[in-house]
Amino acid sequence: MIEIEMFARENNIPIMQKDGILYLIEYIKRNNVKKILEIGTAIGYSSIMMASINKEIRVTTIEKDKERYNIAISNIKKHNLDDQIKVICKDACEVNLKEKFDLIFIDAAKGKNILFFNKFKENLSKEGTIITDNLSFHGLVEDSNLIKTKNQKGIVKKIKDYIYFLDNNIEFVTKYVKVGDTISISRRRPNDELNSSS
Ligand code: SAH
Ligand code: MG
Repeated sequence: MIEIEMFARENNIPIMQKDGILYLIEYIKRNNVKKILEIGTAIGYSSIMMASINKEIRVTTIEKDKERYNIAISNIKKHNLDDQIKVICKDACEVNLKEKFDLIFIDAAKGKNILFFNKFKENLSKEGTIITDNLSFHGLVEDSNLIKTKNQKGIVKKIKDYIYFLDNNIEFVTKYVKVGDTISISRRRPNDELNSSS
């Protein structure tokens, strides 16, 4: 794993931060998650970490960048996890899956979080969870004084739109955990809660 972490650092590939991935692993163990869908494979770091928890875990992960996809495939082989991790090389916007997953982990283009959430919630099991990474954007979301470029400003706006979307979602309830670059954890509201609010 150290090798992949170093490769990512040298090549500016934004893999999950250590405390973030460790939290995710604990979450998977605690909730007995078996089937995972990940949007944003990069070079396979997080999917390898998750699939390594135990042999029953199955990960489907989507990466649109061909070069990163190839590196991911090779890393997954090195870790002997080809039977547990399936990588799809395609823009996730164009991927249509029928299966249901216990956990959907969104870690791709920040501007597409709402789209991915709405699209892939159809693939979420009843009691499943959607976790999204990078809701802090290195602190820029909380402290706009840190914003230096127009590009950063645009990204912060998109993340804030996503947070607004989550906070006002009638179907899902979301909590935020300040690990790594901050993650959101969204679960379906219990049915009775939905009924009583209508
Ligand atoms: N989850 C990885 C890091 C993912 S980095 C880890 O922690 O190890 C985000 C990745 O999402 C990038 O490699 C980028 O190419 C990919 N990505 C961005 N937009 C995408 C899209 N629309 N469809 C599929 N992959 C996308
Ligand atoms: Mg991330």
